[in-house]
Amino acid sequence: MTTAHRVAVIGGGPAGLMAAEVLSAASVAVTVYDRMPSLGRKFLMAGRGGLNLTHSEEMGGFLARYGAAQAPLKPLIEAFTPAALVAWAESLGQETHVGSSGRVFPKSHKASPLLRAWLGRLQAQGVEVKTLHDWLGWDQKGALRFATTDGEIAATPDATVLALGGASWPKLGATGAWTDVLARAGVAVTALRPANVGFDVAWSDVFRDRFHGQPLKNVGVSFAGQAARGDAMITREGLEGGSVYALSAPLRDAIAASGSAFLEIDLRPDQTIGQLTARLAVPRGGQSMTNYLRKAAHLSPVEINLLREAHGVELALTAGGLARAIKAAPIRLTGVRPIDRAISTAGGVALTEVDQDLMLRARPGVFVAGEMLDWEAPTGGYLLQACFATGVAAAEGVLRRLAS
Ligand SMILES: Cc1cc2nc3c(=O)[nH]c(=O)nc-3n(C[C@H](O)[C@H](O)[C@H](O)COP(=O)(O)OP(=O)(O)OC[C@H]3O[C@@H](n4cnc5c(N)ncnc54)[C@H](O)[C@@H]3O)c2cc1C
Repeated sequence: MTTAHRVAVIGGGPAGLMAAEVLSAASVAVTVYDRMPSLGRKFLMAGRGGLNLTHSEEMGGFLARYGAAQAPLKPLIEAFTPAALVAWAESLGQETHVGSSGRVFPKSHKASPLLRAWLGRLQAQGVEVKTLHDWLGWDQKGALRFATTDGEIAATPDATVLALGGASWPKLGATGAWTDVLARAGVAVTALRPANVGFDVAWSDVFRDRFHGQPLKNVGVSFAGQAARGDAMITREGLEGGSVYALSAPLRDAIAASGSAFLEIDLRPDQTIGQLTARLAVPRGGQSMTNYLRKAAHLSPVEINLLREAHGVELALTAGGLARAIKAAPIRLTGVRPIDRAISTAGGVALTEVDQDLMLRARPGVFVAGEMLDWEAPTGGYLLQACFATGVAAAEGVLRRLAS
């Protein structure tokens, strides 16, 4: 491969930048185009939560997180594994560590030093960056069209990698506007939907005003036979947070089908109904229900009031009834929060539309990587891992095509 080959990478997020790195390392002349004034804005936002790069669980369990997309993603993630991602981060000066939940983070818990070092490497490898270039599609001759501050321009590279992201947090650059362009080009695109997202709950006014912004720490949540553990957050609109996101795909689909869904919250997942019943068997005496629950079961005000939201103001009076209420508080979710507040996006370019090199069957020479492909996964590092792995795979597909 020589710099006689020119490749356009459109989208400067993790997937596009990884494709640019692999291509430029093979001496291809790469131009990264992005519609925003700077690259990697969502990656930097992920850094605010500590930048969960990947997860340390064994490969079988890891791959299962991708659900229906597990089979097509398997060879790509096996070719660029979580261990390879850790080695890559460390090669950019970012040592990593495994958190208590098995999640992998840079020790700095920030994205900015990693992104800075990465962009430095890309520059050293000769990658050209063109920001404020909004890709509009192709013209009639097949050239790429970009809207720029100086008007429209065209580009005719030897191959193109599209890494335009999903549609969550659109102010960070990825708006999903590409779905119309690709649909017009004859590519099947599954509707973009929010993933890892919060839900609407019709809280009482009193509960909403008093408890919005307060966390429910280390709760168990379950829905339709699936369960998760972690924190949840009361919001003015409803519920969000890690444990809720973990079940957001089946909850979202159930709400789409029938208008609402009941999420069951276990406020004391480490105690059995028997243990809780024993704790609550102390005489209540003249105490208010609130004081009794606070002292006997160590429930916080937000937890006690959540029980009232779930079970009605008049809580059960027996110790066993209260224990059962604490272990299973049903909260009716009435809607899904909008995609612009979701962590990630489900839907996108159907995986049947690309070959094993992630090249569009309908558009030879055009490869697709990252969140714009139709897969979804929970939080935990699975999102970035798949973005990086598909970026590597698309770049290697480009190299194979250029070589042939
Ligand atoms: C708040 C938050 C926290 C997160 N935390 C984590 C985490 O800890 N771990 C994890 O694994 N994942 C996390 N994610 C998800 C992760 O950041 C994304 O999955 C990932 O950034 C997607 O990478 P991508 O390269 O596919 O797309 P993006 O990062 O969205 O990049 C797409 C790029 O394409 C550009 N673009 C779009 N359309 C055009 C166009 N028409 N022309 C030119 N350029 C265009 C955009 O400007 C953007 O720069 C988080 C997401 C959010 C919102």
